[in-house]
Amino acid sequence: MTKKAIPLPKLSGFTERNGHWYAEEIPLADLAKEFGTPLYVYSRKALTEAYEAYDRACVDVHGKRRARVHFAMKANSNLAVLDCFKKLGAGFDLVSGGELARALEIGADPKSLVFAGVGKSADEIAQALKAHVKCINVESIAELHKINRVAKELQCRAPISLRINPDVDAQTHPYISTGLKGNKFGIAYHEVLKTYREAALLSQIDVVGIDCHIGSQITTTAPYLDALDKVLDLVSQLQREGIEIHHLDLGGGLGISYGEENPPDITDFTNTLLNRVAERGFGHLDVVLEPGRSLVGNAGVLLTKVEYLKPGAEKNFCIVDAAMTELMRPALYEAYHSIVPVQRKAVKSSTYDIVGPVCESGDWLGKDRELAVEEEDLLAILSAGAYGFVMASNYNTRPKPAEIMVDGNHAYVIRARENINDLFATEQLLPK
Ligand SMILES: *Cc1c(COP(=O)(O)O)cnc(C)c1O
Repeated sequence: MTKKAIPLPKLSGFTERNGHWYAEEIPLADLAKEFGTPLYVYSRKALTEAYEAYDRACVDVHGKRRARVHFAMKANSNLAVLDCFKKLGAGFDLVSGGELARALEIGADPKSLVFAGVGKSADEIAQALKAHVKCINVESIAELHKINRVAKELQCRAPISLRINPDVDAQTHPYISTGLKGNKFGIAYHEVLKTYREAALLSQIDVVGIDCHIGSQITTTAPYLDALDKVLDLVSQLQREGIEIHHLDLGGGLGISYGEENPPDITDFTNTLLNRVAERGFGHLDVVLEPGRSLVGNAGVLLTKVEYLKPGAEKNFCIVDAAMTELMRPALYEAYHSIVPVQRKAVKSSTYDIVGPVCESGDWLGKDRELAVEEEDLLAILSAGAYGFVMASNYNTRPKPAEIMVDGNHAYVIRARENINDLFATEQLLPK
């Protein structure tokens, strides 16, 4: 049986030259030797290029800014990654008090921070208000009242947007679709006007914007235009009622190619949305875009070492030193990542399931892959820059890997490998 070969994603930070894979100017094999495996490697060039593609489209032909990019840091929240984006001019989209602390740690301008998330605690709301974030995106009527209460205690005002659930099908994996009426996210479309009216009457609330985010790994523009039209219909209605909206937050979710997908180009995608905003007469509104994956996904790889080859009657297994603990996407969504040998070798190839050492049958990284490898060889799992390290866990008491940023021919440790003793340093035995 011949399977249709899945192409490799297009990468700007990682290239194969004469059978050797490089991160920018450094062979991946050198990084593995110096820093060990499993190892996360990011390319600063790739981060920068992805950001600049968005940013170019955010400025019109007259040089006027039409939109701002707020990096959704849950996709990759390493401080060095955040700092790279901050230096390029990015704002940030946050979904927890922890992410707010990261943004403040790198000295992000509070006015460049939007605080989203479906279950903010009173404590997180207070932290956001004390930090003077640009906006809190509200996901329920109950949350609106909680924000009003917290703001009253702090004797301050709370700038808010409502997150709309536009009920559009983003045609992505059910676990990462967020804009359907059966999803937990956002305020039901038919309740939005009523909720804005209620918000406008609350003593501490300043209505500043409107928000929607319909899902992740979305590979066509159509669902965005559907959602945008529905959001703009609401903005017209609010204007008629005298409720003024200053910014329009269109969320993130643009997909990347992991191999087979063919998502719209970042510049075309951004232009299409911003042109629709202008055509409908809302060009005066500030627009916020919140990309996560499309800024970082293809700017990172996970390096891993082959521990064992285990041939079997039904399947051959390639057992590597990375696992679902380092890259959870395959176990969680049956996600596909391209996997390549770091150095091409003239050995016989076989079809393998690439699996980790964790005691779960869901612990796999790739299935039915044709690979020419031997024990001790290195593999690179591509497109691991988004929802990779951030979803890592210590299951099976596995220390989290180091993260490295490559910039030209320099490699920087941006997070040290965890040390096993640290993993239980805060645990206590019961008294005798
Ligand atoms: C996760 C998330 C994003 C980013 O999604 P990507 O698919 O990574 O682009 C943007 N906005 C909100 C509110 C999110 O929860």
